[in-house]
Amino acid sequence: MNKRFENKAIIITGAGMGLGLATAKELASEGANLVLVDYNEKSLADAKAEISKKFPDVKIIHVVADVSKEEAVKNYVNEAVKTFGSIDGLYNNAGIEGKQASITEYDVDMFKKVIDINLMGVYYGLRYVIPVMQQQKFGRIVNVASVGGIRGVLNQMPYVASKHAVSGMTKNTALEYGRDGILTNAIAPGAILTPMVAEAFKQVNPTDPKAAESEYAQRNPTKRLGLPHEVAKVVAFLLSEENGYVNGQTIAIDGGESNIY
Ligand code: NAD
Repeated sequence: MNKRFENKAIIITGAGMGLGLATAKELASEGANLVLVDYNEKSLADAKAEISKKFPDVKIIHVVADVSKEEAVKNYVNEAVKTFGSIDGLYNNAGIEGKQASITEYDVDMFKKVIDINLMGVYYGLRYVIPVMQQQKFGRIVNVASVGGIRGVLNQMPYVASKHAVSGMTKNTALEYGRDGILTNAIAPGAILTPMVAEAFKQVNPTDPKAAESEYAQRNPTKRLGLPHEVAKVVAFLLSEENGYVNGQTIAIDGGESNIY
């Protein structure tokens, strides 16, 4: 089996479920040393137990941290270096959707919370991981944007603002640190079946979320939603040394939906 991540230490934020957990499993299957980060202590512990059971040889630490808190981010970075001596990859994935509401009706505190987690959380990760990667003269970073980082999404203004910012921060990081052997990209998933998306369909149609889901799927060229492991495969390439020259891009993983207008 192809083991692109043997002796590589990779930090994954939002690792407790959804896209973070799927990527953690994918990287574990390729021998990575993992630093799993999440603010949900229970799902983080469950994720670690599940991966350790399936891949007993993989070294894993888990650090409870809210990525919107600068000190907590410093701490997960320190723990990673203390345990593994390097940080080869950062999957800057933790994020929330917030509530769905029009711009004039959006709750201001919720707006700030979405920005704090989705924008500042990604920034703090970059801020504290990059110096470690600069010393190594090597690093791979994948920030999680969204198709909402490429175009507008009805009733999700702070999410869209934060994800456009993630795409912008990705471009700047690529410009500023490519010379240090650090390649930084973003992914822009469409609707991928994770707990976050299930919650969004509940908001669209509280009485029949499944109906909202199938209606949404019909808009996609593939007539289905994406699956977490389909995202994980792309992330694994971008985090690996196989990626030698892709830098500063925001890559849509959406079945082609962003091409429809
Ligand atoms: P999810 O809700 O299923 O999982 C997110 C995980 O991140 C959870 O374990 C949660 O506890 C954790 N988390 C949230 N806020 C955190 C914080 N402040 N600190 C630490 N951990 C935190 O969501 P998902 O669908 O897996 O989404 C992951 C990322 O992908 C998010 O950035 C999201 O915006 C993005 N995304 C998802 C989709 C999709 O279709 N699922 C589409 C586009 C973008």
